[in-house]
Amino acid sequence: MKKLLPTSTSGSLPKPTWLAQPETLWSPWKLQGQELIDGKHDALRVSLQEQQLADIDIVSDGEQTRQHFVTTFIEHLSGVDFENRKTVTIRNRYEASVPTVVGPVSRQKSVFVEDAKFLRQQTDKPIKWALPGPMTMIDTLYDDHYKSREKLAWEFAKILNEEAKELEAAGVDIIQFDEPAFNVFFDEVNEWGIAALERAIEGLKCETAVHICYGYGIKANTDWKKTLGSEWRQYEEVFPKLQKSNIDIISLECHNSRVPIELLELVRGKKVMVGAIDVATNTIETPEEVADTLRKALQFVDADKLYPCTNCGMAPLSREVARGKLNALSAGADIIRKELSAKY
Ligand SMILES: [Zn+2]
Repeated sequence: MKKLLPTSTSGSLPKPTWLAQPETLWSPWKLQGQELIDGKHDALRVSLQEQQLADIDIVSDGEQTRQHFVTTFIEHLSGVDFENRKTVTIRNRYEASVPTVVGPVSRQKSVFVEDAKFLRQQTDKPIKWALPGPMTMIDTLYDDHYKSREKLAWEFAKILNEEAKELEAAGVDIIQFDEPAFNVFFDEVNEWGIAALERAIEGLKCETAVHICYGYGIKANTDWKKTLGSEWRQYEEVFPKLQKSNIDIISLECHNSRVPIELLELVRGKKVMVGAIDVATNTIETPEEVADTLRKALQFVDADKLYPCTNCGMAPLSREVARGKLNALSAGADIIRKELSAKY
């Protein structure tokens, strides 16, 4: 029988201190050349081992080979000039210096496929691979060529689809697209954002997921959250259309957030990766706190469709805290599994 409540993380996990500066986003690498290539692979092994020791059911690469969840993918594309940088406001929230799209964008060769093959060799567990979503990609760039967010997103969707098909062939079980931008640009999401996402998954036979969160636990995000009021109803804007989409799994933020849990009803029928770990605090959840969040989610998500997860990536946390949170996630899921098996 398939295990109920398979656990996973949203994606990123802390890197070892010998590979990159800890507790920092966009942290520069500490190695170069072949040493860096080997170092990334070793870090991937360590990250996998930590997930396996914590009994995480669906494992990932911990995003050990990328500096950032969006820019590392874009760096591998042609048509984007990384020297020519402009300051833009990402997700209407914080300013960042980003590269410029100067010509037609295309993917000359695969970006993560070798890393995915390497991970596949290391484990028999199901693996999940995260890619940035088209809308989040265009929001992390300055466009001086297409002059249309929709057109550029569509081009990225085609590129992501090529990459996704190769990841599937490499043995990835779930391909996840990170779309925090879906929590900000509601009209665009409904007009073309979900369509672009469906273009990115066209023809895939493996499972697909979209991760929509309130971001890493960095100051720009926690400040933004303070402006959102007592109830965060952003999901209400995009869930109805997502429910009708071809995406299999919705990954979202629940624990310690002000998202009214009943909004999960809007994606009834989909599998849901329920964020039961807060990534914006160093406090490690107790298994009972995790179980409590899962129990609430079970009112709106059928047990066979509930996937306990983290709210977002844990890259900015210390390894010790991340490890504690992985263990809490497993232990919390186990409490609910026991409750469910007593019931049936
Ligand atoms: Zn996230």
